[in-house]
Amino acid sequence: MESEFDIIKHYFTRPATNALLGVGDDAALIAYKTSTELAISTDTLVVDQHFFADTDPCQLGHKVLAVNLSDMAAMGAIPRWLTLAITLPKDEPQGRSTWLQAFSHSFFALADRYQVELIGGNTTSGPLNICVQIIGEVAKNKALKRSNAQPNDDIWISGQLGNAALALAHLKQQLILSHGALEVCLPALHTPTARVELGQCLIDLAHSAIDVSDGLLADLGHILSSSNLAAVIQLETIPHSWVWNHYASHPQALEWLLSGGDDYELCFTAPETRRNEIQALSRELAIPLTRIGKMLQGKGLSIVNSAGTVIEHTKKGYDHFLS
Ligand code: ADP
Ligand code: MG
Repeated sequence: MESEFDIIKHYFTRPATNALLGVGDDAALIAYKTSTELAISTDTLVVDQHFFADTDPCQLGHKVLAVNLSDMAAMGAIPRWLTLAITLPKDEPQGRSTWLQAFSHSFFALADRYQVELIGGNTTSGPLNICVQIIGEVAKNKALKRSNAQPNDDIWISGQLGNAALALAHLKQQLILSHGALEVCLPALHTPTARVELGQCLIDLAHSAIDVSDGLLADLGHILSSSNLAAVIQLETIPHSWVWNHYASHPQALEWLLSGGDDYELCFTAPETRRNEIQALSRELAIPLTRIGKMLQGKGLSIVNSAGTVIEHTKKGYDHFLS
């Protein structure tokens, strides 16, 4: 069966002619003014696919914008404008206005935080579906592309991985998290933080970046294929919470950490010479930045543990058609 990425490649990928960068990165780039480019991206949340029908509308309003801001972060772009296409069920008109009040309130609270402006959209009826398009600005030739990683670059990751996947496992009753564990994991799933400031600061430090939306292995894999390089990552260095540690011996632990997705952290590559500046940036922004591996010449992504053993892990990440 064709994967999500096979479908994009076979049916929707054409060489960019008027754009500077077309299909294949976190955002497309088009020339804008003499010294600026526009970064354009869109992401959709679909009921029963990305969220449960009874999800708190406050959380949904935040999340649909955060996942789009995250793509701007991955390009190092400053988010500026939004459009919103929303499909709402026709039933329960009574509950609809309460739902929309809560949704729009949290959507605009996050939009205001980044001074990003809703300039249009579309409203229809049908199964609940929310699609945001985001447009940002980035200085000419400065955008962080997936394709510019260099051999011997360090691979870095912001924050922690695996918390959203643990929360989802709890909601699907695959495990039962304690109250304290839920306090760590549920916000990661429902109200993720896009690393917008970090992305902008990385523009002069990093060679390449991607946001981790489908899991580290899948998303780092996109940097590898776009840059035509290989990589090795050290398992024990991958940043995680005490909650993941608690479940480290669970059969699905590696899957939650490496392929769970919905993390919205930035994975970026940078030359070794920038280590001190990246560590200083981590302190300045109060965001943990952890070195997890190296880019190499060749093909393929290997994960090794501290004993040097290669870890076999076949499930790469979330795919809408294969998962
Ligand atoms: P992200 O996870 O950063 O949102 P995706 O994995 O969804 O990116 O998509 C990968 C690339 O394919 C992106 O450049 C995206 O714009 C492009 N893409 C996805 N679906 C389509 C489509 N139907 N038509 C054109 N381009 C698409
Ligand atoms: Mg992305």
